[in-house]
Amino acid sequence: MELVLHPNPILRAHAVPVERVGRTERRLLKRMLKYMRRWKGIGLAAPQVAHFEQLIVAEVNGQMLQWANPTVLEGNGTERMEEGCLSIPGSFVDVVRSGRVRVRALDVEGRTVERELDGLLARVVQHEIDHLNGVLIIDHGPVVQRRALSQGDA
Ligand code: ZN
Repeated sequence: MELVLHPNPILRAHAVPVERVGRTERRLLKRMLKYMRRWKGIGLAAPQVAHFEQLIVAEVNGQMLQWANPTVLEGNGTERMEEGCLSIPGSFVDVVRSGRVRVRALDVEGRTVERELDGLLARVVQHEIDHLNGVLIIDHGPVVQRRALSQGDA
């Protein structure tokens, strides 16, 4: 599994919803989680590894998600925070997002789940959903270049 880096146009593609979560999708989600951890990220979306299904993984403070077709149903409050992205190493952007979101998705068993998220996990999920729509952090505001690795790369 290889990480797709900006400015590869793959990152601008729109991912397609999965019809059902089967063995193929479960295997891909499992590999995405493994590689996200290896790359020390806290979130990863399928287009970042050159897959075009709407699949994301995230892990923050021991809370792990493996989701297909995630959609934000409702967002509340706005928070500004600096974000990094595994696909754009060394670049950081102050991004304004909802502080709390209600999200609907399919879990690894293909069941519809609805979750209320806040804090960093809410932010990461919004970042990954952006990836599914071809949107990157650099679209959200001015970029700060910094060499040091940040904890917030997704
Ligand atoms: Zn990212």
